[in-house]
Amino acid sequence: HADVAMYAAKAAGKDNLHFFTGKLDQQSDERFTLEREMRLALEQGGFSLAYQPKFDRAGQIVGVEALARWQHAQLGNIAPDRFIPVAEACGLIQPLTMTILRQACQAIARCNHQRSQPISLAVNLSPRLFERDHLCRELASVLAECNFPPQWLELEITESLLLGDTEHIIRQMQELQAWGAQLAMDDFGTGYSSLAYLVRFPLGIIKIDRSLVAGIESNEQQRMVVSAVVTLGRNLGKTVVAEGVETPAQLQLLQEMACSQFQGFGLSVPLSEAALHDRLQ
Ligand code: C2E
Ligand code: MG
Ligand code: MG
Ligand code: MG
Repeated sequence: HADVAMYAAKAAGKDNLHFFTGKLDQQSDERFTLEREMRLALEQGGFSLAYQPKFDRAGQIVGVEALARWQHAQLGNIAPDRFIPVAEACGLIQPLTMTILRQACQAIARCNHQRSQPISLAVNLSPRLFERDHLCRELASVLAECNFPPQWLELEITESLLLGDTEHIIRQMQELQAWGAQLAMDDFGTGYSSLAYLVRFPLGIIKIDRSLVAGIESNEQQRMVVSAVVTLGRNLGKTVVAEGVETPAQLQLLQEMACSQFQGFGLSVPLSEAALHDRLQ
């Protein structure tokens, strides 16, 4: 990156040389620190999980989404938006995901043990995991270890995955679906959100991004967009989930649109395993 710094510094005039190299060094230092600490945390069980419930139209909890948490002794709480990109860049996303999946399956198997109606578990998958060939086999070996049926598992992917090598991706998605897991399109409504994705890829679930949900009370056009996506998704036979539901008015509007499931701080923040158990009682 020294070359990049020199180039940027030259482009901006000599006086800025120190500023640019300083900033790039700081960024790579931070990445290096996080990478080293992440290896340690993986060995020492430093990652935990929060479980955010999803509710059906009757207000029952029908599933949870596992969200990774990293509380570091010196660095404090590190958000997934910060450490997931680092894990992707340094080749740790595979072991991190498998660790998260194992913990989550164990926790939700414990919940479902006492229930007549099992709740589903949703796990977020980085597009990086689809680059190799054995994703389904790797996930299956973790589930088998935990005695967790794939029918309880939902795999959340983002549309950036669908921009890649489509044939390869579709094959892996089909394999996951045939195995018994459901695939969910996360954050729908951000980025390109091509409607063609909803037909071309084997998706059972669409999650409407909270940036769209946030506008439905105040913005009539945004409300029409969300309503149309809900209707389209349902007509295609998919489960449509609204993310980021924060207010009773949003919930009411989404109910009227016949949205299938709801998730958001207004219904429940992400919970510890113990708090989830209490909530399920
Ligand atoms: P996501 O999958 O879209 O997860 C939802 C995020 O929105 C979570 O943030 C959640 O706490 C937050 N959220 C839920 N309801 C509300 C709401 O009503 N209002 C607002 N403002 N926010 C809400 P979190 O836990 O910080 O996760 C951020 C992103 O990090 C996730 O977005 C996901 O893309 C990624 N991520 C988290 N855990 C994992 C993981 O285990 N693996 C991978 N690959 N990515 C993960
Ligand atoms: Mg998600
Ligand atoms: Mg999401
Ligand atoms: Mg989101």
